[in-house]
Amino acid sequence: MSNDCVFCRILEHKIPSNIIYEDKNNLAFLDINPSAPGHTLIIPKKHKIRVEDLSIEEVRSLFSMLHLLLKPICEAMNAEATTIAINNGPESGQDIPHVHIHVIPRKINDGKGVSQVLLRASNFKTEDFNEIAAKIKEKIN
Ligand code: AMP
Ligand code: ZN
Repeated sequence: MSNDCVFCRILEHKIPSNIIYEDKNNLAFLDINPSAPGHTLIIPKKHKIRVEDLSIEEVRSLFSMLHLLLKPICEAMNAEATTIAINNGPESGQDIPHVHIHVIPRKINDGKGVSQVLLRASNFKTEDFNEIAAKIKEKIN
């Protein structure tokens, strides 16, 4: 845990988030500034900056959660596809130095090329986040 890491504070429930799913090693929650509705972040509970700083078991566990959540996220958001992204280290434009996988639901002709996909377009309200989190959670079993 790192005291000045936003994601560690989310893990400790010291700041609120819309949690989608949690297991022993990882947490998934909605991105506060989404590129599309249902934009989800999946993080390991260990504070590590880069994927290669995690053990292979931790990486397997993290990607298992990604695998588990892709279908529920798409179903809940009526998305046909996803863009999956990792800014792997501060020099890559990573704002929060704690490993996180972005999962961005995509629709055909949603007007985003690969360079625009991480641009934030929307101003969602708290109710929207709560509703989206509930929809995704409903699809996980
Ligand atoms: P990156 O630029 O890859 O480090 O992405 C960091 C992501 O964290 C951005 O998409 C932010 O919108 C998101 N973010 C920052 N603070 C929070 C927060 N408190 N809750 C949820 N997502 C956050
Ligand atoms: Zn952290």
